Amino acid sequence: MNQPNITGHTKLIGLLGHPVDHSMSPAMHTASYAHMGEDIVYLSFDVEPEGLEAAVEGMKIMGFVGANVTMPCKTFVGQYLDELTPAAELMGAVNTVAIRDGKAIGHNTDGAGFVKNLENNGVAIEGAHVTLIGCGGAGSAIMTQLALDKVAHIDVFNAKDQFWNATMARVATVAEKTNTPIDLHDLADLEDMKSCALKSTILINATPVGMAPNTEGCIPTEDMLHEGLAVGDTVYNPRETKLIKMAKDKGLVACGGLGMLLQQAALGEEFWTGSKMDTKFIEDSFYN
Ligand code: NAP
Repeated sequence: MNQPNITGHTKLIGLLGHPVDHSMSPAMHTASYAHMGEDIVYLSFDVEPEGLEAAVEGMKIMGFVGANVTMPCKTFVGQYLDELTPAAELMGAVNTVAIRDGKAIGHNTDGAGFVKNLENNGVAIEGAHVTLIGCGGAGSAIMTQLALDKVAHIDVFNAKDQFWNATMARVATVAEKTNTPIDLHDLADLEDMKSCALKSTILINATPVGMAPNTEGCIPTEDMLHEGLAVGDTVYNPRETKLIKMAKDKGLVACGGLGMLLQQAALGEEFWTGSKMDTKFIEDSFYN
């Protein structure tokens, strides 16, 4: 693998959040820029929400190219930025910041990465009918991006727990601002989920169900997976979840979470520097 060429001109991209020491992003993006021959290094910085304002000012003063923002900072950093893209504004969360001409611009690639992965697998987004299971961080970003990309209808399923009212409010805001019909349903009602899935062209799992070590977990039942349905999962460990295997066995288009992760990283690099990340190189180097 190419090594970064550290010089007096080397530029920096940061990861802001807490904790950040488990992240693969520094190795992945540094390798990606070295592979493209670009003099850019990516490092992680342990920053909590109280330190974000100073961190953003510091990045501007020190000429950073930009940053990723992870938990728990995604919903706090927007207030310290100069501009937000429509996706970041509507999601109320920022995961990518670019510094351009001394201005910090916030964006969110979580939903766009997932949607790009669907498109790369030949799935039509505009006019689609979607069943979306889970509306946490990833699920609400995906819901928002699908609405911005003009799907016809979204049925969102979430547990009727302490987050139900907040989820209802988020769904109503996205529906109103994008003029998209979005209905919220109780995840416990599997008959209702089946009737929505049978009317859908896309079904998505945006819960951690199916993630290692509980790899036998899977919310949709086999009778929901009908001909013509495309299935997407946000979970990338294991690479092939039970849901993705079930969909593949039925001959359906099935898009696992690794594709989302890679496309999200690629969209970040495009936002920072306009570069086209070699996703195949990154997949082979880090995930095979
Ligand atoms: P999150 O914010 O905690 O949201 C999790 C969602 O799943 C919530 O809607 C939650 O419901 C629901 N949920 C949690 N446990 C559940 C269970 N046992 N049964 C049914 N529903 C359950 O998490 P997140 O950040 O959205 O992450 C969700 C998944 O996406 C994780 O597996 C994560 O690894 C994956 N992810 C992948 C990528 C990628 O690049 N591929 C990026 C981000 C996330 P409540 O709101 O009611 O708790």
